[in-house]
Amino acid sequence: MTTIDPQTQPGKSDVPALEVRNLVMRFQVGGGARPKLLHALSDVSFSLNRAEVLALVGESGSGKSTTARLIVRLMKPTGGKILLDGEDVLKTERRKASLAYRRKVQMIFQDPFGSLSPNHSIGYQLERPVIIHKRAEGKEAVRQKVYELLATVGLNPPEEMFHKFPFELSGGQRQRVSVARALAVEPEIILADEPISMLDVSIRMGVLNLLYRLKEEKKIGFLYITHDLASARYIGDRTMVMYAGHVVEHAESVRLMDNPQHPYTQLLLAAVPNPRAGLATRYVQARGEVPSLIDPKPGCPFAPRCGKVMDVCRQSMPDVSTVEPGHWLRCHLFTPDA
Ligand code: SF4
Repeated sequence: MTTIDPQTQPGKSDVPALEVRNLVMRFQVGGGARPKLLHALSDVSFSLNRAEVLALVGESGSGKSTTARLIVRLMKPTGGKILLDGEDVLKTERRKASLAYRRKVQMIFQDPFGSLSPNHSIGYQLERPVIIHKRAEGKEAVRQKVYELLATVGLNPPEEMFHKFPFELSGGQRQRVSVARALAVEPEIILADEPISMLDVSIRMGVLNLLYRLKEEKKIGFLYITHDLASARYIGDRTMVMYAGHVVEHAESVRLMDNPQHPYTQLLLAAVPNPRAGLATRYVQARGEVPSLIDPKPGCPFAPRCGKVMDVCRQSMPDVSTVEPGHWLRCHLFTPDA
């Protein structure tokens, strides 16, 4: 097995804010004498620097959200390592994430309504993390901190927004509150799991621009999870493509979208609607469905759908091949790295 160097951005900090090495997640399904295993994640490695957005793209079931849930410590991985500032998280945070860990790693969920309590004001929901994580002390200082947070995410005037309830806000405003709540603890890393997919198209850009601004100003590293390649290209410094629990291609976002090499990435990009092309059906050289992740067959998981499949594809998982520095993929059409 070829080892991927997860530090793919030479010149930045030597120790990435977050590093994931050979992460594996299996779920036991069914009972009886011979339970089966669902292979949710297989050998996933990457790093995330401060002031960087790494986009994680792929279809439903590709393992994107499982990756985020493992990093935020909602679940324990079957194997692999998670390093935060170079520290092995699975050794220091054996049972569940400590307060200190949660202060560094925050998550923004897809559904801004479901992730906020309908019974409490916005101010109350933002005060809680500020108090629990001791980001300000004293009633007035906590109140001022919350006003700052509201202003930072563009919810003005903060004195009015403080007293509102989630049902009084639009979807975009609710997602901004979710962002403010994540910011309240001054995190190093934010895992944003499809943060714009439930928002109206007209307000998605505003939330994306907010995340981009926070990356620049507060030097936060974002793991941006999406199935939308256009937004990955817009906000992602780098993009990683996942399929059936495997990372199949990685590159700087613009390079990846302009020069996709893996047949699955090519399929994803070919499926992006092009308004200039009218309603003509585009030919996409792929067929079938995402394979079952339960006791999967050996070989490349994309083989049943790939128009370029060869015999070897059904026998072994491809090793890593480097196309150019920072751009690598797993496909038997390419010569593996030595
Ligand atoms: Fe297609 Fe084979 Fe490459 Fe998999 S390894 S993407 S099946 S050519």
